[in-house]
Amino acid sequence: MSENKDELTNHNIEENKEDSNRDEYEDVCYICRRPESVAGKMIKIPNNICICQDCMQKTFDSMNGAGFNMNDFPNMGGMPNISMINLADMPGFMPNSQKIKKKKPKEEKEPVLDIKSIPAPHKIKAKLDEYVVGQEQAKKVISVAVYNHYKRVAADNADDIEIEKSNMLMIGPTGCGKTYLVKTLARILDVPLAITDATSLTEAGYIGDDIESVVSKLLAAADNDVEKAEHGIIFIDEIDKIAKKKNTNQRDVSGESVQQGMLKLLEGAEVEVPVGASSKNAMVPMTMVNTKNILFICGGAFPGLEDVIKERLNKEASIGFKADLKDKYDKEENLIRQVTVEDIRKFGMIPEFIGRLPVIFTLDALTEDMLVRILEEPKNAIIKQYKKLLAMDEVDLEFEKDALYAIAKKAKEKKVGARALRAIIEEFMLDIMYEIPKDENIGQVTITKDYIEKKGGPVITMRGCMELEDKRA
Ligand code: ADP
Repeated sequence: MSENKDELTNHNIEENKEDSNRDEYEDVCYICRRPESVAGKMIKIPNNICICQDCMQKTFDSMNGAGFNMNDFPNMGGMPNISMINLADMPGFMPNSQKIKKKKPKEEKEPVLDIKSIPAPHKIKAKLDEYVVGQEQAKKVISVAVYNHYKRVAADNADDIEIEKSNMLMIGPTGCGKTYLVKTLARILDVPLAITDATSLTEAGYIGDDIESVVSKLLAAADNDVEKAEHGIIFIDEIDKIAKKKNTNQRDVSGESVQQGMLKLLEGAEVEVPVGASSKNAMVPMTMVNTKNILFICGGAFPGLEDVIKERLNKEASIGFKADLKDKYDKEENLIRQVTVEDIRKFGMIPEFIGRLPVIFTLDALTEDMLVRILEEPKNAIIKQYKKLLAMDEVDLEFEKDALYAIAKKAKEKKVGARALRAIIEEFMLDIMYEIPKDENIGQVTITKDYIEKKGGPVITMRGCMELEDKRA
């Protein structure tokens, strides 16, 4: 008896779940795939299939055209409950992944981001500090820009003063933490994030993703929730690769024209994007997303930009009282910090494009000291991860400071920033992770500089000895 009751309750719960799902998700026309908000009220037919009135009308029209006369079928006269194209035979339910979460009606719309809940810039930076080493200026600029952006979103046209959108352009060598900074930021703010590579983008109609596909990626990251996506962040990496090509007479499908194509998106436009897929086709429902409140961050290494800066500085120096040695700037580190909008334009970005990224900042190349700090300081530092792994075997893992510098030096030689660190560590930690669990008496492993440089082995301390040492201490 009680089992029966349980079953009944379970059944009710299931039904309630379905009901609430129905409330949250929009119906999509089975034929043209447009959602209810676009196509208007749906006609429901058995098997959970919905058809918009336009498509229903077209179906009738085509049948009339084919010689059917509705008067011959008195039972059917415009009755929505009859399936004309045997829709009922088609596979039953529309999966939720292809449905679109309804936008809440405007009046009762609660802001996703309450101005009071947006953390102040110093709080955002403090959080970033926990993960991202160095790059102080970049962290400061990004915190203020993000704070202003979300303030702007919250204020949204309260009066006539419209706050400019703070899209950003981030310049820094590879592996210095550009993507990592944005990823951390999105996590702190709990907003959806889409990361895209500018090289994969082409003007609509050419092979490659068209520009609007970035918005559809963001929609997917927001679980198809349009409202959430409209407050998200889009990070476009390798933006320098779509610089205007010099001296080319071919059609420039992946350079200047992509920049042109992105202008509207950066500024704010209503774009129609496919739901649950990255390309538009007849079988995918579409929805409208407004990019006005989406924060765009573009990043790139801009190789060769330093030469442009150098050339400008030298030219400035050669006229007037600034006259100086010609090679003065050759050895200067982080010359990139002196970048101006004019330099970026000279590099090949069109003025309209740069104009839509008003916040421009640079990240420094990582020094050996910074690499060492990256190894041990961040919340999820690689060394902390390995320590935790070995601690599970009750083995204490230690790194001599010299060893850390040796790793940093090796990484620096590879010229891919912090990305090299993990590969280097993994290479020598493999043996340790393999050998140590073999012997239960091992209590501590110390990685030395010699071991990194392949001149010696790690220092292994047995449990008994450690206790002795502890007692002596
Ligand atoms: P890019 O600048 O080329 O986008 P990434 O952000 O992808 O470089 O950096 C690669 C990895 O290096 C990151 O996943 C992160 O673990 C590490 N890293 C790079 N820079 C830093 C930094 N400043 N602080 C902490 N980790 C960093």
